[in-house]
Amino acid sequence: MTLEALEGRLEQAARLDTGEKITAATARRLACEAGIIPAVLGGPSEVLDLGRTRRFHTKAQRIAIGIRDQHCTEPGCDWPPAMCHVHHDIPWSRGGPTDVDHGRLLCPKHHTRFHRRN
Ligand SMILES: [Zn+2]
Ligand SMILES: [Zn+2]
Repeated sequence: MTLEALEGRLEQAARLDTGEKITAATARRLACEAGIIPAVLGGPSEVLDLGRTRRFHTKAQRIAIGIRDQHCTEPGCDWPPAMCHVHHDIPWSRGGPTDVDHGRLLCPKHHTRFHRRN
């Protein structure tokens, strides 16, 4: 997918390496969770940035975030840490760090919902 689509400036479907098509929102959610963007294409299949990665939250960071948040941070949602993703409050694409202060728990449903809006 293109960088524009990933950053939400353009709504465009992305494609997994399995050939499966996913929405840009899903791609952003996957990028947030995993911190991995395998390939960002600049023009017709021109790879600008292959394998640029950000660290996953470490196990220790996940535990610290889980103890602090206790459940999904969406108001009224009580999904436990083990079932939540760690969401980057500042997206990786805007230089957001992978740390405890900028991470918070979101369950898969609310994580998906967040990235549909953002
Ligand atoms: Zn997220
Ligand atoms: Zn939730």
